[in-house]
Amino acid sequence: MSLFDKPVDCDECGAQFIVDDSRIGSIKKDDLEVQYLSCPSCGAKFLIFVSDAKMRSLVERRKAIQAKIKVAHAKRFTERTFKKYMREYNRIKKEQEEMMPALRAAGEKILQEVK
Ligand SMILES: [Zn+2]
Repeated sequence: MSLFDKPVDCDECGAQFIVDDSRIGSIKKDDLEVQYLSCPSCGAKFLIFVSDAKMRSLVERRKAIQAKIKVAHAKRFTERTFKKYMREYNRIKKEQEEMMPALRAAGEKILQEVK
């Protein structure tokens, strides 16, 4: 997992640390899955990504359409096919963006509870 290619600074204590798998944790609550980073110095937790079942299925669909776009590109598919894929990709992305604020808020709440 290489979400971060540079060390990050902890907002709580200012310690700088390298992000690897051991710094990333996840909490499951009901339908929600919260992924977070934890600071090795002070243990503060920072939200990375929150998903519910719908968001997870959107993530999968987005990956699938991304793969199709890549193939379409390599094989020089028609402009029409390509545009169709792009439209679907943008639709999924928009849907994810609209869901994000509520999911983030729910995720922050869950993180607060475990602190
Ligand atoms: Zn810290």
